[in-house]
Amino acid sequence: MAVDPLIELRDVNKHYGALHVLQDINLTVGRGEVVVIIGPSGSGKSTLCRTINRLETIESGTILLDGKPLPDEGKELAALRADVGMVFQAFNLFAHKTVLDNVSLAQVKVRKRKKDEADERARELLDRVGLADQAPKYPAQLSGGQQQRVAIARALAMNPKALLFDEPTSALDPEMINEVLEVMRQLAADGMTMVVVTHEMGFARSAANRVVFMADGRIVEDRTPEEFFTAPESERARDFLSKIL
Ligand code: ADP
Ligand code: MG
Repeated sequence: MAVDPLIELRDVNKHYGALHVLQDINLTVGRGEVVVIIGPSGSGKSTLCRTINRLETIESGTILLDGKPLPDEGKELAALRADVGMVFQAFNLFAHKTVLDNVSLAQVKVRKRKKDEADERARELLDRVGLADQAPKYPAQLSGGQQQRVAIARALAMNPKALLFDEPTSALDPEMINEVLEVMRQLAADGMTMVVVTHEMGFARSAANRVVFMADGRIVEDRTPEEFFTAPESERARDFLSKIL
């Protein structure tokens, strides 16, 4: 497959004080691609995700979205955060807003849609994630799996170019993990460009185009799931897989 790059990181480096948290990161995510990032705790997966929508700055290197460097500030930065949506482990919904408003408010603020237009799109998306009947409720009235599906609908409402997921199912009870992964599988099948940090190896095998294995701030392997899971090249990856599979 010829890759049409949507996200490109070139020679990206970042420190937290003495800790070299991202070391010479080179990563290209093609349009429509699903890249799963795995690796031990503390290897820099979250930091990598956060640099892509500029929740973190970098010290050297370049990050391009659609061929353009990430903006530093202002309206362009707000637009970037909408273009590259992020779904976190903690659902981060507005507790005092209804489910419907959680999905529609940023559309009005950032995308400048009229409220009724935004509400209509919110209802469509809630339907798509299987929550049409939850629109008038408040987040605390929903299960964790439902709240995470609202968070996904909220990110989708901005018509993002790409979505970043940072351990989206790690805070969920086991019986709710699949309903979230199912929504993510559907998005992948619909052609959404996705970067997904997860320990769900079943998802990585079935939905990823590539698996990126990180350790100590570096990308150690970047291969297809078949290659990675059947014959990991590095000792680090073999060791990691032996602990989680
Ligand atoms: P992962 O998501 O793979 O577990 P992180 O990207 O969260 O890894 O963290 C990588 C390393 O950077 C860890 O050692 C972590 O303690 C450290 N770290 C993360 N965020 C900060 C921060 N804001 N300040 C200082 N150190 C941080
Ligand atoms: Mg993390």
